[in-house]
Amino acid sequence: MPLDECPPYGGDRASIRDAMERTRRWAERSLACHRRPGQDLYGIVQGGVFPELRRESAGHLVSLGFSGYAIGGLSVGEPKKVTLDVVEETTSCLPKEEPRYLMGVGSPEDLFECVARGVDMFDSALPTRTARNGALFTALGRHNIHNACYKDMDRAIDADCGCYTCLSFSVAYLHHLFKSRELLAYRLATIHNLSFVIRLMERMRQAIIDDCFVELKDSFLANYRITDEETRILQKRKWLDRSSRTAGEGNGAQDAGIVT
Ligand SMILES: [Zn+2]
Repeated sequence: MPLDECPPYGGDRASIRDAMERTRRWAERSLACHRRPGQDLYGIVQGGVFPELRRESAGHLVSLGFSGYAIGGLSVGEPKKVTLDVVEETTSCLPKEEPRYLMGVGSPEDLFECVARGVDMFDSALPTRTARNGALFTALGRHNIHNACYKDMDRAIDADCGCYTCLSFSVAYLHHLFKSRELLAYRLATIHNLSFVIRLMERMRQAIIDDCFVELKDSFLANYRITDEETRILQKRKWLDRSSRTAGEGNGAQDAGIVT
């Protein structure tokens, strides 16, 4: 990946354009220097929440000819509908033959919505970050393992999951580990959430092959309880603030945008 600048949500058009043009210059320089055979190089689309900037950024990168295209600068505190609209606008400008990679989006419901809008690949710290906070994914939604209702639950957190955590430990034990702040808790929860997300992507891939993606998406979202928008944005901003402070020297939001 070339370097890119991921400006925080809420910037004015001029500052977003500056970031987009800086990203474009880095893309051009990366392409000019790229020599290693067999190594893909992706262009990164920026442009904030401005559709015309997204189209301009995507159009320019496509004219340069990359082996894949990343969509950056999203999931930085904007409302979810805005994220999805920008994803749709951007993917419509990218070639179908090349992979599209959405940076920083990783909740189960967002994976479905963005695959539906033409995204092939994701990376996100969300499954591991939520795991470390005790939120475990199941087909019904995120479960806060700290809640007292899990204290005596003698079964796996997810009966459909074949991960090491679910095959080996009960919900009650995970609850105990989190309450005791035992380090094993974070590892076990992380193993489960990553397994859940990987399995979900495998199911989506198979459903696309079998031409039943819409049915899978509808049935999943009908059962999955989504974290409400207000809570989600609040959690995200807190995390971005923390990342910004620890990254230092004002580049935290950019770093955060890349890894979330
Ligand atoms: Zn599991």
